[in-house]
Amino acid sequence: MKEIILLKEGEIALKGLNRHTFEDSFIRNLRHRLSSLGKFEYSRSQSMIYCCPLSDDIDMDEAMDRASKVFGAAAVCRAGVCEKDFEEICRFAAEYCGEELSEAKSFKVAAKRSDKNFPLSSPQICMELGGRLTEKFPQLTVDVKTPDVTVNVEIRDKNAYIHTGNRPGAGGIPVGMSGKAMLLLSGGIDSPVAGYMIAKRGVDISAIHYVSPPYTSDRARMKVERLCERLTPWCGDIPFYCVPFTEIQEALRDHCPEELFTILMRRIMLEIAQRICSDKNISALVTGESLGQVASQTMGAVVCTDDVCRMPVFRPVIGMDKSEIVEIARKIDTFDISIEPYEDCCTVFTPKHPKTNPSLEQVRAAQASFDFEPLIQKAVEGTEKRIFKHD
Ligand code: ATP
Ligand code: MG
Repeated sequence: MKEIILLKEGEIALKGLNRHTFEDSFIRNLRHRLSSLGKFEYSRSQSMIYCCPLSDDIDMDEAMDRASKVFGAAAVCRAGVCEKDFEEICRFAAEYCGEELSEAKSFKVAAKRSDKNFPLSSPQICMELGGRLTEKFPQLTVDVKTPDVTVNVEIRDKNAYIHTGNRPGAGGIPVGMSGKAMLLLSGGIDSPVAGYMIAKRGVDISAIHYVSPPYTSDRARMKVERLCERLTPWCGDIPFYCVPFTEIQEALRDHCPEELFTILMRRIMLEIAQRICSDKNISALVTGESLGQVASQTMGAVVCTDDVCRMPVFRPVIGMDKSEIVEIARKIDTFDISIEPYEDCCTVFTPKHPKTNPSLEQVRAAQASFDFEPLIQKAVEGTEKRIFKHD
């Protein structure tokens, strides 16, 4: 028996003349994410992408799972493929949906016919097939409002497809369609969620992480690398940059007012990120900041950090409550890693009384009082790169 994965386009279907570019990108991403499972053939028709396995030994459960994490689809389903012959459709539906139908009390048939040459209309398919199925499964009653099982029949160009329901797709638009951004990825809950949210809007994400050994441990770094890995089913491959940040933090501790430490550190983090982006065609930064969550995330603090930015900083969780962020973190499976208790460089030398409303002049003056430039350059040069692949 042949099965196929059907992906219903989400926002892509609303695009105008450039819709094909979005579909191409979506298929390219799907192909990439499924490639290690075996060969698939891809086609498209009427807002649907057909993803057809070319051998019998492909793990379709895993393929479904991966496909439902590729941005661009509103819904995903696994369907049986059958000839466009009504007798064959009846036989096949009873077999393909047999297990679910034999356990159900009520059902309905929902039919769609995009091939108008098919001899039966959609209501006729529902009536006739419904009748046949009640003969085969006599315990079933028809319930069009809240059936236990819905047998969907879609008569399309080449074949008929039979399935018992969609599951939600990943939504969003295909990664790659909205340019590239650099995610400041910490080991916390918020920044992985921020990366996921921006990737969902079609952005190709790279990640940057700052480490301060020996104040931060190898295990803290490895935790962030695992978070990065967890993001790849959604974001695709992620280039990961690890910046040695110890000397900068020590200089900040030794030469700057303690109450401004966090804000100055964040300014330098953003400065380094921008320099690393400069030759990579990356046009924005992404952080996991949420307004008012901590002292460095007040509006005044955001004004002071953005002061050093020559590129836009996206903060997709800025208006979200922690509980809302946690809900997404659980959904994308980063939460359990994020709550592991390793230190982040942000928690090293944290001031006891950070300034929540620093003046820009004060912050600029504090930063200018020491020449950070050689240390910034050294950190950029010492940055290590690796790539996290989706599988
Ligand atoms: P998160 O849960 O993402 O760690 P947070 O609530 O702990 O956020 P902060 O520690 O103030 O907040 O960090 C704010 C943002 O700064 C983070 O969301 C992240 O984008 C960035 N950031 C913090 N520490 C690092 C780090 N060591 N490396 C890279 N980015 C960092
Ligand atoms: Mg943090």
